[in-house]
Formats: sequence, C-alpha cells, structure tokens
Amino acid sequence: MKRLFVDLEICSSCKECAVACDYFYHPQNNGISSLREYATFATICRHCEEAPCVNACYHHALERARDGHLKRYAMRCTSCKSCTLACPFGVIFQDFIPYLDSKCDFCVGTSEKMPACIRSCPEKAIQIQEFAAEDQEKDIYFVGQHLAVHARKWSREDIQPQKKK
Ligand code: SF4
Ligand code: SF4
Repeated sequence: MKRLFVDLEICSSCKECAVACDYFYHPQNNGISSLREYATFATICRHCEEAPCVNACYHHALERARDGHLKRYAMRCTSCKSCTLACPFGVIFQDFIPYLDSKCDFCVGTSEKMPACIRSCPEKAIQIQEFAAEDQEKDIYFVGQHLAVHARKWSREDIQPQKKK
C-alpha cells in the first residue's frame, strides 16, 4: 500500500523549510507542521505517564490518548509554548504549534499529481512510497492509515538494563 513517507532524520535537521502545501480550502496551509507533529508524537515522544507537557498546558489542549500518544487540540491551543519549555526531551518544536493551525490530510484522493510538499522539499525528506509492512530494523514505522515515518523511535525497552546471562 502506498503511503506518504516522511524521513524525520532529514526533516528534523533542515534549517529552513521550503516545503509548499496545496490545501484548496486554506491557501496558507502549512501541512508540514502538522505532518511533523503527528510523526514526532508517534515516534520520538517518550509518552511520559505523568507528562510534563500535559501538566504545563493551562488550556487543556494536550492529552495522552488511550494508545499513549500525545494529542493536541488545535482549537484550544493558544501557541503559548509552555509545553515546549516543559518537555524535558525537547520533543515539541515551536513550529509544531503555530497559532494558526494547519492540517495535513496526506493528499488522500489527489494521487493524479505529486503533492506540493514532495515536489518542493529540496532534501527529498517527503515522498510517496509503497510499504508492505513496518520495518523496525530500518526504523520505518506506520502512523495511522496513510503515513510512514523514518525515525529513531524511542522505546521504553531500550533503556531497560540487560539481564545477566
Ligand atoms: S502551546 Fe498549546 S498545547 Fe502547548 S501549552 Fe500552550 S496552549 Fe497548551
Ligand atoms: S512531549 Fe515531552 S513531556 Fe510530553 S509526553 Fe512527550 S516526551 Fe513527555
């Protein structure tokens, strides 16, 4: 199945994003911000049980969903950046939480042409690719139905002390 693929190892280190977006109903939409938000919250976020970011949000705009993933309610978020300061792991980049929120719908249904983000990303960090399954050895993970992410995923098991043999 084809998915929109974002390589966070490239995208997170890009200094000046030049990516364009084609969102008909919202010409100023900057879908790359929400794309990075989804991808980062699903893979790099530590999914803290007592999440400092959630506790720091006075607007109740952040919650941990049932699957443990962080979820932000854009209609409540005022872009105050308290969560950015509260996260001890530097997960919430300021550009994820703009005051005017943008959406990425993965350009579902517009497959006759390449999405603008793919055409405009000079680093080739966004592509459409066919994936049969996730590949943990290559750090490829699925997020929802339409997105695949390349990232060094954090996992609680990674920091458990190795048992003596
Ligand atoms: S930026 Fe948004 S989500 Fe973060 S603390 Fe402020 S209101 Fe909450
Ligand atoms: S964003 Fe930071 S503080 Fe919030 S759950 Fe993820 S790692 Fe924890």
